[in-house]
Amino acid sequence: MTKRISRIIAIVLSFLAMISLFACNDKTTESEKNSGFVETESDFIKDGKSEYKIVYQEGDSTGIIDLAVNELTTFVSQATGVDLQIIKSTVADKWTTDSKIISVGDTDAALTSGLYGTVDIGELSETGFTIKNIGESVFLMGGGTYGTLNAVYRFLHEEFNFECYATDEIVIDTSVRNKKIIDFNDLKVIPDIVWKLSAAGEIRNDVMYARRLGYNLESDFIVSFGGRYCHNFLTAVNPNAEIETESGEQRKLSELHPDWFSVDGANVCMTRDIEGLSDYVVSEMKKAFLEYPDAIALSFTQMDNSQLCNCEECVKYGHKYGTKSASYILFMNKCSDKISGWLKENFPNKTKYLYLFAYQDSETAPATLGADGKYSPNAPELKLRENIMVQIAPIYASGYYSYDHKLNQEVYDANIQAWQSISDNIMFWTYSYYYMDNDTSGSNVPWPYFDFYGVADMYAYTASHSAISVFDEDLSANNIGFDWQRLKIYLRSKLSVDVNADLRYYTDMFFQNYFKQAGNTMKELFDSYSSYYSKMIAEKGLTGRGNNHKEIDNDELWDEGTLAYWIGLLNKAYEDIAVIKSTDPALYKTLEERICLESLTFRFINERYQYTAKFIGNGNDLATDGARYGFNFV
Ligand SMILES: [Zn+2]
Repeated sequence: MTKRISRIIAIVLSFLAMISLFACNDKTTESEKNSGFVETESDFIKDGKSEYKIVYQEGDSTGIIDLAVNELTTFVSQATGVDLQIIKSTVADKWTTDSKIISVGDTDAALTSGLYGTVDIGELSETGFTIKNIGESVFLMGGGTYGTLNAVYRFLHEEFNFECYATDEIVIDTSVRNKKIIDFNDLKVIPDIVWKLSAAGEIRNDVMYARRLGYNLESDFIVSFGGRYCHNFLTAVNPNAEIETESGEQRKLSELHPDWFSVDGANVCMTRDIEGLSDYVVSEMKKAFLEYPDAIALSFTQMDNSQLCNCEECVKYGHKYGTKSASYILFMNKCSDKISGWLKENFPNKTKYLYLFAYQDSETAPATLGADGKYSPNAPELKLRENIMVQIAPIYASGYYSYDHKLNQEVYDANIQAWQSISDNIMFWTYSYYYMDNDTSGSNVPWPYFDFYGVADMYAYTASHSAISVFDEDLSANNIGFDWQRLKIYLRSKLSVDVNADLRYYTDMFFQNYFKQAGNTMKELFDSYSSYYSKMIAEKGLTGRGNNHKEIDNDELWDEGTLAYWIGLLNKAYEDIAVIKSTDPALYKTLEERICLESLTFRFINERYQYTAKFIGNGNDLATDGARYGFNFV
C-alpha cells in the first residue's frame, strides 16, 4: 500500500511540475528489462556455428510448444545465421551434464536433469516460467505451454536483445558470430496477471503480435459455450433450438420450457425451474468442455444490454437476498454441484472453472458491510463454490482512475470487496476508451482517451485483488488504433507481468525503436501531450467514463496555441525522416505511416474547433489520411 501511495504522490507532483507523463516508479522491474545476467563459459554460437540443439516437449495439443520452437529457431537464425537442430524429446540422447541443449517445455531431459526437484511448477502459473542452467544446458520451462512460449521470448531477449514493439517492429541483434550461453541465475517470472486479454483490434486480429507481447487470446483459456466466450445465455440455451420430444415430435425449447426464459425473452430465468434448466445447461457445458479440452474456464453470462429476468419468482429472490445477482449465484452453484464430479473425473489434472458476470443487472454483490469493516454474503448459500469465478466489469467506473480512487471508491471498490466475500476467484473486465460515441460499433470513435496513468494504477489494483485475468475493452473494430494505441499495447504487456514496470524506461525504448529518426520529436510531442492531458484530467475533473466522451469535446479544454505546437512537431517529424526518403524508401514509408497514424488525433481536434494550425507533413487532408487506416473523419 505504501508503494501505491508514494506513486500517487509522485503523480501529483508531476502534474504540478508539468513534466513528462510517467511519474516515478522507483522500483525498477526485475522481471523484464535486461537483467544484468552474466555469461557462462559455454559457447552458444562460436565462429558462426553452434553445437546446441533444441529438444522439445511433444504432444502439446495447443500447438503452443511448436510455435515456441519455431520462434526460437527463427529468431536465433535471424540473429546469427545458425539453424539450430530440432529434436523431439523422446528421441533425444539421454541427458547428461555435458549435453548442449536448449530444452523447451516438459521434456525427458527436464526430468533427468532433476529440474523438477528445484522448482514448483504449479507456482509459476500457466503463463509464468523459469529459465535454468543445468550443466551446459538451458531449460525453458513454463507453468503451462503459454509460460514456456514466454520463456522463449525472454531467452531471446537476454541472448540477442529481442524485443517486439509492434507487429512490424521487432528488434534483435544481427550478424552475431560469437555468443556465450547466459547464466540465467534460476530466473523465475510469475506474472502479476496470469491471463492478459486485450480487445484492441490489432491484438485481436494479429495472433503473432499478441503472442510476442505475451497477450492471451480468449481461446487460450476460455471454453466457447453456445458458440461464444461470453454473453451466451441465449446461445447456450437457444429458445429456437429444436428438441425431439418423447413422442418424436420436434419442438422449440421456448415452447417446451417457457419457464427457462425471462419474461421479456431477452435472457434466461434462473428461478422458475432451477432443476430443469440447470440439468440442461450442465449437459451442454459437458459437451463444451469436451470440445475444448485445453481451456480451463467456461462462462455462462447474460446477453449484453438486456435485463435479467423480472418474473415474480425472480423478484422474490431479489427481495430475499438484496440483489438481482443472488439468483444467478444460486443457479451457478447448482450447476457447479452437478458438474464438479464429472469434471474431476474427466480432467483429473486440471482445475476447471465456471464463471459468471458481475455486470449491468448482476453488478452488485449480495453482501453487506459488517461492523468489523468486512463484507459478508447476505446468506451463507450465496458464497460461490470453489470452482466458480466472477468477472467484474465496472462499465461506468471513471476509467482515468483506479477503482479505489475517490471517484470510484464508494461504488466500485466497495462492490469489488463485497464480491471478494462471495468468490475467491476474481477476473476483471476494464474499459479503455470512450465507447458510446456517434458510432456505437466502436469503429470510428475519434476521441483520445488518456488512461496511461489510470491503467498502471488499475493493474496494481487488480493484482492486489488477486485477479486471475484482466480483459481491456478497447477499440476493437479497426485493425489499427491511433491515439498511441501501439504504445499502450506495449506498456500494458509489461504491466501485466509486473504492475510496477518502469513505464518511463519502456516509453523511451518504444519511441527510439518505433519512430527511429523521428523518435526524439515524437517523444517531445508525446511528453507535451501527456503533461497537457494529465493536467486537464486533474484540473477539469475529467473522469474517463467510457460513455462520456462529451467531457472532452469542448474547445475550452484544447488550447489553440498548444494544438499548433503539437502539429508543428508532427511537421518536424516529417522533416526528420525526409533524409531517408531516397536512401531507404522502405523505412521511410514505414515511419511515415507511423507518424501519420498518430497525427490523426491532433488533426481531428484542430479541425473540430476550426483551429488554424497547418499540417503540412505529407500534404494530405485528414479524411484522406484517416481512410488509409480505415477511419472515417468526414
Ligand atoms: Zn425469472
